[in-house]
Order: sequence, then structure tokens, then C-alpha cells
Amino acid sequence: MLGTNPLRPQELEDGTQLWVQELFYTLQGEGPFAGRPAVFLRLAGCNLCCYFCDTDFESSQWHPTLDEIIGKIEGLSPAPTRFVVITGGEPFRQNITPLVTTLLEKGYAVQIETNGTLWVDLPEHEDLHIVVSPKTGKLNENIRRRATHYKYVLLDGAIDDSDGLPLMYTQPDAKVARLARPDRRLPVFVMPMDSGSDEANTRNTRACVETSKRFGYTLTLQLHKILNIP
Ligand code: SF4
Repeated sequence: MLGTNPLRPQELEDGTQLWVQELFYTLQGEGPFAGRPAVFLRLAGCNLCCYFCDTDFESSQWHPTLDEIIGKIEGLSPAPTRFVVITGGEPFRQNITPLVTTLLEKGYAVQIETNGTLWVDLPEHEDLHIVVSPKTGKLNENIRRRATHYKYVLLDGAIDDSDGLPLMYTQPDAKVARLARPDRRLPVFVMPMDSGSDEANTRNTRACVETSKRFGYTLTLQLHKILNIP
């Protein structure tokens, strides 16, 4: 949305219906499960507005029931896959507790991709993976407790020399800030920002390579863009 989306607050209903942008079967393109087949559930709306965000999460008016969502996931997902990525927008803006609980009970592994500022209660489960990609200086305390991985988008020239992670602004009118850091040892992935030109993207990728080698992070690229798949 490139910094143009409306800021949508957390709207918690009973979770029996959710606002959905899209639901499709593909390969996870980035982060700890890159390359793994997954059903992607993109939920609508975000509480933040990042200037580099290239995702559409505002153009759908689809408000399916939980049963409809689960039915479509089961229809899209071949038996061996059983992996669902819940992303957005910001998934914790809506009450995803019933959805996540049902998926885990049905034997799906679930990955949630979040900016880390909001929370709803979720079951403790070894197949629930919460990948936090901080976009501000603060994280929700429950997210800090339950995060399983961190992922940062790096822009060359906006990296803190002390830890190789972003020192940048992300929100319109915001000042340059140190984006929130993990406060316990968890896997950290770094991904080059798509700055819109090959030259800038090469610099961002080199910066990720350097910071990975120096601080022990894992480089991740956006496979879906490289492969030109959804
Ligand atoms: S937090 Fe994520 S989805 Fe929301 S605007 Fe920023 S990059 Fe886009």
C-alpha cells in the first residue's frame, strides 16, 4: 500500500467471521519456512502504515464465516501439506483465536506473520509459529513472550552498526527509530527491502549478506517475487 492505507484499529468480535483479503495455495516465499507449500490466508486491514509496504489488504469486502474459511483451506490444501500462513495486513487486528485453535486441532501447522504490536490469546502449541517483523520501537508484551522468530526488512544505510538491525523510520511522519529487538535468543531473519530499482536492491541485499555474516542472522529473499508466483 506504500504508506497510503488507512490505519485500522484492533476490532475484536467473536471470531466466527473474519475480514479476508485473499486465500490461496502457494509456496511460502520468505522467512523460516521459505519454500514450504502453504495455504495463505491474508486478513484485511493494518494498524500501521509502512511507506515500503507493497501488499494490498484493503480492496476486498469478503467476510466469510469460520466454517467457510476452514472449508476452503481444506479444499486448497493437499493432505501432506497441512500448513497455513496467516498474514495481512495485521492478523492480530481481528479475533483469530477460534480459527487458529481449530486449525491446530485439525493437525495443521500455523505460521502467523505479525508486526508485533497487537495480540489475542492463542493456545500454546508446538506447531504454532509466530514470526514477528517489528515496524516500530515497541512490541506487545505477549508477542515478546510468544514470538518464535523475528524477521527484519533491511535498507542499506539505515542499519544500526551495533547489532546489524534497522535504525529507520517506517511510518509516515515518524522519526528515525531503532525498531524493536528480540529480548531473548530467537532465530533472526533479514530480508532486503524492495526499493524499486535494481541498483538499490543490490545494495540492500549486500547489506543483508554483511549483517548476516557479522551477527549470525539468516538471509531470506522473497522467493515468490524471484519465481514470479503469487
Ligand atoms: S505492518 Fe506490514 S502489512 Fe502493515 S503496513 Fe507495515 S508492512 Fe504493510
